[in-house]
Amino acid sequence: MMTIPFGDLRRQNAAIRTEIDEAINRVLDSGWFILGKEVAAFEQEFAAFCGAAHCVGVASGFDALYLALASLDIGPGDEVITVANACMYEAAAILQTGAMPVFADVDSATQNMNPTALEAVITSRTKAILPVHLFGRLAPMLEINQIAQRHGIPVIEDAAQAHGAWRLDESGARRKAGAWGNMACFSFYPSKNLGALGDGGAVVTNDAELAERLRRLRMYGWSSKYCTAETSGRNSRLDEIQAAILRVKLRHLEAGNRARRERAAWYAAALADLPVMPPVDEEGHIYHLYVVKLDQRDAVRAHLASAGIGCDVHYPMPTHLQPAYQSLKVEPGALPVTERLAGCILSLPLWPELTHDEVTQVANALQAAVF
Ligand SMILES: *Cc1c(COP(=O)(O)O)cnc(C)c1O
Repeated sequence: MMTIPFGDLRRQNAAIRTEIDEAINRVLDSGWFILGKEVAAFEQEFAAFCGAAHCVGVASGFDALYLALASLDIGPGDEVITVANACMYEAAAILQTGAMPVFADVDSATQNMNPTALEAVITSRTKAILPVHLFGRLAPMLEINQIAQRHGIPVIEDAAQAHGAWRLDESGARRKAGAWGNMACFSFYPSKNLGALGDGGAVVTNDAELAERLRRLRMYGWSSKYCTAETSGRNSRLDEIQAAILRVKLRHLEAGNRARRERAAWYAAALADLPVMPPVDEEGHIYHLYVVKLDQRDAVRAHLASAGIGCDVHYPMPTHLQPAYQSLKVEPGALPVTERLAGCILSLPLWPELTHDEVTQVANALQAAVF
């Protein structure tokens, strides 16, 4: 039996090993390991890739979220609206600032923030809206931005699953994740579409003043000129080695995203006659994950596991139902779509180096499991 892992970064790294080795050696030879030429170059290259003016490298996706919120002076007494179906990342960062997360339910087809549900939970205490581009598909940013503008509330994109995802803007131009909100947060966790060989993250923005605040916040609040601090900060930096590796991987990102879309199309064709609902496709969806909906999810998953196929559930328990978040007092049933979807979603293996044979084998195993 040929097993198919849920992911295998060794195949990806093997294909670009010489370039990665060269990048690592360049940093070793430079003798400079924190906030140097590689980080500065990566920040420029990634901002340009996103179509934004500034990028500030930080230590992780979580730190990007936390520092973006902190740069808006969000804290105790404030509310930030987000979703409850993305594994607690956003709620954890919001709580870290002292503010309260408030959840909007999601759309059942796309699993992204529902604009109507968003507008219904805005209050005078709402200080930011934090939608997630879940699984590589943009949240409905035109609608979210309109609502945000009407209420004068800043928008922070959680783009940790959406490096290179895009949608047409009002003028009919392609606009990528990172260029829709006041700020956008990225993670470079190894398995993301753009992944480092360790932890990393970034905040992207068109706002020069926010970028400057973020640069200070990532290093104890120091201003570069005077080495004084007007606000306190923390240590959250992207390493030179990771930045050098990310510069290599950024050159291959579009090809990787195209390969993901190609494999998503293979799946969609192979699953057409099964009682399995594939994700709704759209041109700018970059399939960080390939998430289907089906009945008897846990039984099917067990069947696939016994057939040697790695699957996963992203994510089995919504944030507001987690033991750690009971103090928020969001009752079960409060987010019906989020809660229903958690029980029927299944992520199939999807990565750029997966072969056509492997996709066929997954589809065949799925067919055996559902009939
Ligand atoms: C991975 C991820 C994060 C967190 O990133 P880390 O680098 O692991 O801290 C945040 N939000 C979303 C949507 C993610 O997928």
